[in-house]
Amino acid sequence: EKLTEQLEKKNRILDNLANIDGLTEVFNHRYFQNNLDQEINRAERNDNHLSLIFCDIDHFKNFNDQYGHQAGDFVLKEFCNVLKANLRQYDLLARYGGEEFVVILPETEENEALIVAEKLREAIEDAVFDDGNESYRVTSSFGIAGARPAIEDNFSKDEFISKADYALYNAKESGRNRAVVYEPKKKWFGFS
Ligand code: GH3
Ligand code: MG
Ligand code: MG
Repeated sequence: EKLTEQLEKKNRILDNLANIDGLTEVFNHRYFQNNLDQEINRAERNDNHLSLIFCDIDHFKNFNDQYGHQAGDFVLKEFCNVLKANLRQYDLLARYGGEEFVVILPETEENEALIVAEKLREAIEDAVFDDGNESYRVTSSFGIAGARPAIEDNFSKDEFISKADYALYNAKESGRNRAVVYEPKKKWFGFS
């Protein structure tokens, strides 16, 4: 019995190492991909909506240049804590890579996801990160995409991710520190 307890504990530690980002302690990219597969299947079965929020810290390269990489790491951790504190129970936060994060919002329409993203944006804008040495503030940009896999022809996970990423790109382009919902690229007809 003691041996199985030890094995269970070791397994939990191994699962954590495989699924959790070491710096921020949110889920890692791999776990995000697996969880999104599952949520897409579930949304398809139950005909639910599903949304994605991409989020990227504004001008973070400048931040590192100005305050150093250690301060940058500190802010990344605290940034995630603020996001976590402002998410709902079933929303899943993961580090997509670098200073880019992603939230999976099950059973959530795109307009609800926009409200969540706007809440996150404001929480980050208002947050002051103090490492005992100095106080730091950052802003961040958000891209949102919603899906209803059960009724979409040829629904593609990669396309879904690209849509949220493209919305994030638009948030950056239109001035940063904002949340933008995906809109299809405009197609132009006629002469120009
Ligand atoms: P933008 O507003 O367009 O997002 O500008 P940006 O400078 O944030 O974007 P860019 O992608 O050019 O730079 C991202 C920076 O994030 C560069 C990299 O040094 C920093 N970064 C990525 N991962 C980490 C990390 O783990 N720790 C620290 N301290 N910095 C990181
Ligand atoms: Mg950035
Ligand atoms: Mg980035």
